[in-house]
Amino acid sequence: MDRISWDQYFMAQSHLLSLRSTCPRLMVGATIVRDKRIIAGGYNGSVSGEAHCLDDGCMVVDNHCIRTIHAEINALLQCSKFGVPTEGSELYVTHFPCVHCSKSIIQAGIQRVYYAKEYKNDPYAEQIFQAAGVDLIAVELDEAILDRKYQDKLNLTVSLLKELEKTDVSEDVLQDLLQQTRSIYTKS
Ligand SMILES: [Zn+2]
Ligand SMILES: [Zn+2]
Repeated sequence: MDRISWDQYFMAQSHLLSLRSTCPRLMVGATIVRDKRIIAGGYNGSVSGEAHCLDDGCMVVDNHCIRTIHAEINALLQCSKFGVPTEGSELYVTHFPCVHCSKSIIQAGIQRVYYAKEYKNDPYAEQIFQAAGVDLIAVELDEAILDRKYQDKLNLTVSLLKELEKTDVSEDVLQDLLQQTRSIYTKS
């Protein structure tokens, strides 16, 4: 089996972190990497000890949930709390950073930002990243790398559909199943 690339490895880590998010509005994960080592990680959640959006609901002001600290900031604060330099490091994040996080990312000396999904990309954020010489690189997570039985499942599904084709199942039902199979087994 092939080894996964560093980009996929760090991006998978950020997606794993996003599953710890406490705000249902958007689940974000961020990983800070230096010299191919993970130095910090974060997800969007409340200040330690405070209520979680998942339990008490979001606190929405001007269409933003103000209860949470964003994933990127939480990762940077972890570095600040434990005295870990971020100069020249790289960030892997599940969603394109908001303008506030973008400013902090630049100011912390992060050199490269890998993001999995475009998300309300702020033109000012893009402008200051460019001016600061921070590279922005889109890296989609290939979820198949996390599923070691991916190929077996695909092969089994294809053979099941072929067997089904031999029966008197209606063309509509078959097409619908083929469509669902494609959407599950194709990269999103
Ligand atoms: Zn919230
Ligand atoms: Zn943010």
